[in-house]
Amino acid sequence: MAQPLSLAKQLQQHGDFLQITLSNPDGLAPLQFTLTDSTTVHIWDSGVICFEPTNAGDKDIVLSCGVHGNETAPIEICAELVQQVLTGKLVLKQRLLVLFGNPAAINAGTREITENLNRLFSGHHSMGAGLINAERHRAKALEDYVSRFYNEVRVTEAAPRNRYLYDLHTAIRGSRFEKFAVYPFLHDKPWQKAEFEFLQACDVTTVLLMQTPASTFSYYASNSHGADAFTIELGKVQPFGQNDMSRFSKARTALRQLVSEDKVSTQPFDEQQFQLYQVYRAINKQTQEFKLHFADDVQNFTAYPVGTLLATDGDTEYRVEREGEAIIFPNAKVAIGQRAMLMVVPTTVQHNLL
Ligand SMILES: [Zn+2]
Repeated sequence: MAQPLSLAKQLQQHGDFLQITLSNPDGLAPLQFTLTDSTTVHIWDSGVICFEPTNAGDKDIVLSCGVHGNETAPIEICAELVQQVLTGKLVLKQRLLVLFGNPAAINAGTREITENLNRLFSGHHSMGAGLINAERHRAKALEDYVSRFYNEVRVTEAAPRNRYLYDLHTAIRGSRFEKFAVYPFLHDKPWQKAEFEFLQACDVTTVLLMQTPASTFSYYASNSHGADAFTIELGKVQPFGQNDMSRFSKARTALRQLVSEDKVSTQPFDEQQFQLYQVYRAINKQTQEFKLHFADDVQNFTAYPVGTLLATDGDTEYRVEREGEAIIFPNAKVAIGQRAMLMVVPTTVQHNLL
């Protein structure tokens, strides 16, 4: 009887790391092997695969998907990229860590199992009740893998490194602007022109600029590791296999270029080609009576005239206060005390751009 192929051999033949991950959602034994192009592959855990090309460039790139388990398009995009590298169709130029965020939720086809993973970073996993569920453990583990990936290379003045983390999502609802990115709060450091150019290469020209710390994965990478980091919303949630992949062709091409070349082809930044927003206020749910006063299927970035009633919460009324004020991420079903929607207003980056 023929010996079963080792996991390393199987992965080099079919490249389906996502399938291996989903068959082992609770963990995978660490494994290391070398591809024919001499790239070293490290599997650190279920959904955690790291590639070290020989003579790597100066970028340390983290791509993550499936932090929300039902957001399939980014999972398919990352699985395809990993498959191309493992099977030798794509040769990497840069160090790369790919993370499938929440394998158990991907298997369940749900956003989360017990708690929103993207509210648990920067140590929030251990606050309050502490490490009480799988998502909290996973958030802590993902932080550790990202730290290990960035810290494994020596950074010197003569050999500086550039760190990136692009956390890929799809939104629950439709959006006036199909794709958009959330740029985490930089604590008044300048917004990066080169990053807007990269986003545009990904077909993302709507950017929400945050002004406060957050418990998201992208803020964690930005704030704790100095990475250029974004939450990127690539469109609307669809079941596996029902994504029209042509809608993501620019993002797929730009991501492939990012990891396999020295430079991504971009156009010079022109703010006129972007829709830039900043948060005007967050509306938190305070009582069980919280109610949204617009249709369930209203799109992100929809704006209403000043004075329009948006929500009521017991005796409190929320009305549009400013011209151009638009809604984003409305969700009446959140727990009491949590954010039920964000109100955003148009802004500019000219005053603080590098
Ligand atoms: Zn998401």
